[in-house]
Amino acid sequence: FTFEELNLSPELLKALYVEMKFEKPSKIQAISLPMILNPPYMDLIAQSHKGSGKTICFVIGILSRVDPEIKAPQALCICPTRELALQNLEVLRKMAIYTGITSESAIPMDSIPRHKRPPITAQVVIGTPVTTLYLTSTKKLGVNYVKILVFDEADQIFAEDGFKDDSLRIKKIIGSFGSHCQVLLFSATTFNESEKFSKIVKKDHNQLFV
Ligand code: AMP
Repeated sequence: FTFEELNLSPELLKALYVEMKFEKPSKIQAISLPMILNPPYMDLIAQSHKGSGKTICFVIGILSRVDPEIKAPQALCICPTRELALQNLEVLRKMAIYTGITSESAIPMDSIPRHKRPPITAQVVIGTPVTTLYLTSTKKLGVNYVKILVFDEADQIFAEDGFKDDSLRIKKIIGSFGSHCQVLLFSATTFNESEKFSKIVKKDHNQLFV
């Protein structure tokens, strides 16, 4: 199985080979990418262990679906920590190098109080729950064009102890996106725990265990 067989754009293929130096898709990439990239763009819950290559799954999903001509946020990726958000942004920027697609982080800034933050205009936004929700609820981050929403390490984002209030807010936000928005949820938890994700993805969704 090759990356070519996934029908990726020439820009993404070049980034995979030249920038990332990958030769072929990992197992989760080979299985999830056809589901992510093709109509009807069904929601996905993917459970996979650390190091399986899931980052590339949603990075390719995001970069394939963003329309470079529309200069507004079209993809959101929510991560449990700043470190992970920045790490994912770095991978996304490397993969976006030949596409011209713009990206920005939505994490707490130590130097600027959040009410003084300028509006976000990038096409892809990768952030942490509270800051992302603050920016969307204050309209500094417009969601009208968002067509793909990713939760990385969703088990941590929706953990009962940590982000409980945020997870309620996140559910509200998802409701406001409507049914045109594809939701991808990546998690390391087992099947039983994925029960709580059922309210985040649409009833009709794919599930993967890799
Ligand atoms: P992740 O599970 O996304 O954190 O990825 C784990 C590691 O695997 C990272 O260092 C990636 O750069 C690497 N990786 C991801 N996909 C591939 C691939 N198709 N071929 C080789 N390495 C990969």
